[in-house]
Amino acid sequence: MLSIALLVQNGLLAQDIIPSKVRSVSPMEMVALPAHLNPGMAVDLDNPASFLYPEWSNEYVHKFEDFELPDTVVISMKGYVMPTDSTRITDVYGYRPRRGRAHFGIDIKVRTGDTIRAAFDGKVRISRYERRGYGHYLVIRHPNGLETVYGHLSKKLVEENDIVHAGDPIGLGGNTGRSTGSHLHFETRILGNAVNPAYMFDFPNQKATTDYYVYSKNTREVYYKVRSGDTLSGIAARNATSVANICKLNGISRNAVIKVGQTLRVN
Ligand SMILES: [Zn+2]
Repeated sequence: MLSIALLVQNGLLAQDIIPSKVRSVSPMEMVALPAHLNPGMAVDLDNPASFLYPEWSNEYVHKFEDFELPDTVVISMKGYVMPTDSTRITDVYGYRPRRGRAHFGIDIKVRTGDTIRAAFDGKVRISRYERRGYGHYLVIRHPNGLETVYGHLSKKLVEENDIVHAGDPIGLGGNTGRSTGSHLHFETRILGNAVNPAYMFDFPNQKATTDYYVYSKNTREVYYKVRSGDTLSGIAARNATSVANICKLNGISRNAVIKVGQTLRVN
């Protein structure tokens, strides 16, 4: 488990773990942690995680190309609530050979009508319906820098721009959108980048996996969609990695047949 204390022990000062957005301030302020890591600072729920997200928009689900991703983002799990009390994971995060594409969330078995709760305090950024995808779904932005996504709901209980508190009922479990069997599809994203929710939420044991999740640009997961004419060695070269690494990340052999449109994890 990586904690702030450990980072400091290892010689990393506070400013090393502060996103670069807040780094260019006066020396006195430089040691100030972002609000979500500093219990003495008030958290602005009207404008959550403004140190990371320069604007508030309800337009896109995951479109942050214009935003600068800091080298490191520290996500505090302080105040978390498990979104469901279900302990049964029915599909894990990552590449699924069965479907030939990546799964950017974790699926947890819930029954239609089960209460789904906000994982942290935050503000509802998206409350929408997508027939072929998420079904009824919500995206909530939290002061700690995380955005959480709740998909396949039977009912949404909050609207865009609503302020919610950790544990508030925000929807009911369901089977809407591209879903077979009622479940909660739960995603955790940082500036649009999907992160395995299991790094932060331990559903089988109903607790946080860690106190602080340290997201690093260097260790983030990168995916590639196979195009016509691609070979594993070509994909490896293009993504500055090795065929062996791609095989390991995706659980495939060197001789595996790759299909156009298939998503491979390349880092
Ligand atoms: Zn899912």
